[in-house]
Amino acid sequence: AREIYERSEKLAVAGELAAGIAHEIRNPLTAIKGFLQLTKKGINPDYYEIIASEMDRIELIISELLMVAKPQRTSFVLEKLQDVVLHVVKLMESQANLNNVSIELNLPQEEIWIHCDENQLKQVFINMLKNSIEAMQSGGTISVQISRNPASAVDIVIRDEGLGIPDDKIANLGQPFYTTKDKGTGLGLMISYNIIRNHQGHVSVQSRAGEGTVFTITLPVAGDED
Ligand code: ADP
Ligand code: MG
Repeated sequence: AREIYERSEKLAVAGELAAGIAHEIRNPLTAIKGFLQLTKKGINPDYYEIIASEMDRIELIISELLMVAKPQRTSFVLEKLQDVVLHVVKLMESQANLNNVSIELNLPQEEIWIHCDENQLKQVFINMLKNSIEAMQSGGTISVQISRNPASAVDIVIRDEGLGIPDDKIANLGQPFYTTKDKGTGLGLMISYNIIRNHQGHVSVQSRAGEGTVFTITLPVAGDED
């Protein structure tokens, strides 16, 4: 019975998502169609720009959706968490620098091993660091801290000095297509929360509008059986 329940719940989520996708893609398509009508007599460069940017938007939405839609061939292997995080921080450093953001890393001496799908987990850290950088329009510091949590778990804390999230908007985080950005898709956190859930972990958020945001990802650590 449990399995059937979970399956129907998944279908309900898929249905909701499909409705959201249809809506998000129809809007730019309607705009493109309208402007194409106007270009019948020859392409106007202004219309060309609008059409191209609406097509870019569709492309971005589709490419992010493909990440969720990918057959979940999740393969969990034992990885040292510090290595995974270090790799992502190095990857994001140039984007951070371009935005006057520095990333401060605080890793524990003790090696922390977790069962994970490395690429999916990297995707989560990339999404979150990207959000932090985008929230810090006038630069600042992001701190990434890893610390053992007494409950056979580990906390990865990402703290930024960005614009923060008002209390009444916190519940919207992770909802498909919730975005406050002109060029956002509102899919990054939904994908990230899904990945962390598949890893038996959870995410919590603390934020103060105007001061910054703290995302805490909690994951189980690999036990003695390994
Ligand atoms: P996107 O980045 O495409 O908007 P996300 O799912 O990654 O989609 O994030 C959804 C929304 O959550 C963002 O548009 C933003 O309003 C808010 N948000 C996420 N992370 C942060 C952060 N670190 N600081 C401030 N707001 C954030
Ligand atoms: Mg994002």
